[in-house]
Amino acid sequence: MTAPASLAERERLAAAGALDVERLRASFPILDQEVHGHSLVYLDNAASSQRPEAVIEAVSDCYRTYYANAHRGVHALSERSTDEYEAARGKVARFVGAGKDSEIVFTRGTTESLNLVAQSYARPRLLPGDEVLLTEMEHHSNIVPWQLVCEQTGARVRAAPITDGGDLDLAAMAGLIGERTRVVAVAHVSNALGTVNDVAAVARLVRDRSDAAVVVDGAQAVPHMQVDVSALGCDFYAFSGHKMYGPGGIGALWGRGELLASMPPYHGGGAMITRVTFERTEYTVPPHRFEAGTPSIAPAIGLGVAVEFLESLGLERIERHEQALLSHSLEQLNDLPWVQVLGQPPGGESPRAAVLSLVIDGAHPHDAATILDEQGIAIRAGHHCAQPLMERLGVPATVRASFGMYNTHEEVDRLISGLHEVRRIFG
Ligand code: PMP
Repeated sequence: MTAPASLAERERLAAAGALDVERLRASFPILDQEVHGHSLVYLDNAASSQRPEAVIEAVSDCYRTYYANAHRGVHALSERSTDEYEAARGKVARFVGAGKDSEIVFTRGTTESLNLVAQSYARPRLLPGDEVLLTEMEHHSNIVPWQLVCEQTGARVRAAPITDGGDLDLAAMAGLIGERTRVVAVAHVSNALGTVNDVAAVARLVRDRSDAAVVVDGAQAVPHMQVDVSALGCDFYAFSGHKMYGPGGIGALWGRGELLASMPPYHGGGAMITRVTFERTEYTVPPHRFEAGTPSIAPAIGLGVAVEFLESLGLERIERHEQALLSHSLEQLNDLPWVQVLGQPPGGESPRAAVLSLVIDGAHPHDAATILDEQGIAIRAGHHCAQPLMERLGVPATVRASFGMYNTHEEVDRLISGLHEVRRIFG
């Protein structure tokens, strides 16, 4: 590890608009620990990020001082919980550029958000022979909900191809959009390759050729780049709190107001009705129509604080820092002929987020992960819930290192030394 930057150096970086990563790391208590006798290098951010003290404190403050059920009681604690919960909705709405707070539905995460769209938007509209168009790089969360709804309706799933370099083939995608296409669902950023898809271009393709809804899986985008759903031109945008430095068990769906208003509920229960009799029930308006039961109140409040935390640092600065980590990694990986970096072709067409999917000659990804773990380096090995993508790329699994705002150049160097150790053992 290099010596900590001097105060003067940190001030220079701050003035130049760079993240003060050293100070930032001090906000994440979990990072300051040893694993197997080495300081922890946490490079599994695409699976789940860590939380800053401010988020942990907001959740614990809720439980310690004012927690009660929201939207229920008239007593002071319930009113405070309701106000904080709804304030969090407002913060999340502004964070992604939603026109109205009511366009944000709190869910358990991306998976639930996508299932909600599949069941409430698509299911009533799909007819036998209709098509849901996905891409070959989707996470299972953006495949299986569509397969379920297709089985229920007689519609079918199709997948737009990617290039060998891991870019979405937009021309081929255009050829697959037709009058039977009812939904086009794409990842904003691939969790396995880091490919950043041009969602605005996809939305334009769709609008020119069909009246299909454009659904975006934003799980890997919101922690790493500024997202503005209006500018993207999509209809739905799904994301998870635990990947954006917020609590687990909370996420959101942004949906166009007029579409949400036209959709039946996904779950039934308390808090989503105006009147219930045994004969029939009248549902309340969005977003509450889609939030049956007691919501995840403290996690939602924590998500609001995570959003403020991201905004206080600035998504542009975060992105610049993570891109610098990516370049630093690629420069060194290019010198290792025994490591193949999937989906990072020299001069590739689309930008990449800071995700590295590696195939190491002679070493199974799980063995490599174990050796890296022994050196305190946390990465993920496997198919990354993207089996069709792995099949397309002709590999069963990869080693994935995924970066977050608090990672450092020294940690990249630790990863590279760790890979050398893998090579030494399996070489
Ligand atoms: N989509 C993508 C691209 C993801 O990376 C993930 C999480 N790995 C999901 C969807 C599912 O998110 P969650 O498990 O939080 O619902």
